[in-house]
Amino acid sequence: MKIKRKDLLTKVLPVSAGMVGLAYCKPAQQGGGENTNNPKIMWKLTSSFPRSLDTIYGGAEVMAEYVKKMTGGNFNIRVYPAGEIVPGLQAMDAVQNGSVEMAHTASYYFTGKSEALAFDTSVPFGLTSRQQNAWLYHGGGLELIRSIYSDFNIINFPGGNTGCQMGGWFRKEVNSVNDLKGLKMRIPGLGGKVMSALGVNVQVLAGGDIYPALERGAIDATEWVGPYDDEKLGFYKVAKNYYYPGWWEPGTTLSFLINKDAWNKLPEHYKAILEAACAYANIDMQAKYDAKNPAALQRMVKQGVKLRKFSDDIMKAAYKASTEMMEELASKDKTYKKVYESWKKFRGDESEWFKTAELTYANFSFLAK
Ligand code: CA
Repeated sequence: MKIKRKDLLTKVLPVSAGMVGLAYCKPAQQGGGENTNNPKIMWKLTSSFPRSLDTIYGGAEVMAEYVKKMTGGNFNIRVYPAGEIVPGLQAMDAVQNGSVEMAHTASYYFTGKSEALAFDTSVPFGLTSRQQNAWLYHGGGLELIRSIYSDFNIINFPGGNTGCQMGGWFRKEVNSVNDLKGLKMRIPGLGGKVMSALGVNVQVLAGGDIYPALERGAIDATEWVGPYDDEKLGFYKVAKNYYYPGWWEPGTTLSFLINKDAWNKLPEHYKAILEAACAYANIDMQAKYDAKNPAALQRMVKQGVKLRKFSDDIMKAAYKASTEMMEELASKDKTYKKVYESWKKFRGDESEWFKTAELTYANFSFLAK
């Protein structure tokens, strides 16, 4: 590699000087001489989540802690909960305009900017957590999603997963599509659109407003995440029927968004460290949910919660409505079509594979006594 004279002076020489300093002149460094190979960098990260959701919010803290450790304390990313710098749903704008360098959020909040961003998070009857990682990391998914974010001066990394969510809390049993008609349910996003196509009266409520609405009967049902998070919000106290699966969010993936100018200014090894820390946080969140959900579910069942499976009637109607909705979006939006086609092919291949060893093993082993 040819090194320009300017680079030799600004990049190579300080490395050698630093190494010599480390070996022979350690006390002299204690005055705080800057090591240009490991520059001090301070970033702000806005999370779209409150601190109380420790598993999701904690994903950003896990990432930041590893970045700090791996850079010997030189690269610090300070995590702010939703609302301290900007409200949760403005995370993408804040990264784009540079008011923060980074965000931890879910891309499906930003389908108003590009419908195809939903595939970065989860879509009805979409990929499971493992399949989503396979598509993003090794199936061309990340490249496709990055080409969308690139128009907003953002680079994204997968940043955690909830796994397959629960279908949520219903005051009364719903056994058929007919029972859904006129039901007032809090359910956001594409899942809400599908429910609406099935006759549900879809409500949009912020996290803190759901419990009181369910308690006083202003809504008949709500979905949230899964046992560990749902238990904290207390829905089981006022709606005893806990349905599954949350077919609208089978592998909800969180995302780290980084302002591209800030990213481009990082030394190459800081970029690698940040990428590795994001990947660690991505895996760690799913592991935490998988470790914490069973006990939370058992505690709620002891409180009288009835676990109920969505009927085939509801599942089939929802699948049909979801597919029609995605085909329609693809017919209207070129970017959506491009991502949808990659995703659809990948989903088909994954289903063929997962229905062999994984499904057969799960069907036998999860039920064995
Ligand atoms: Ca949900």
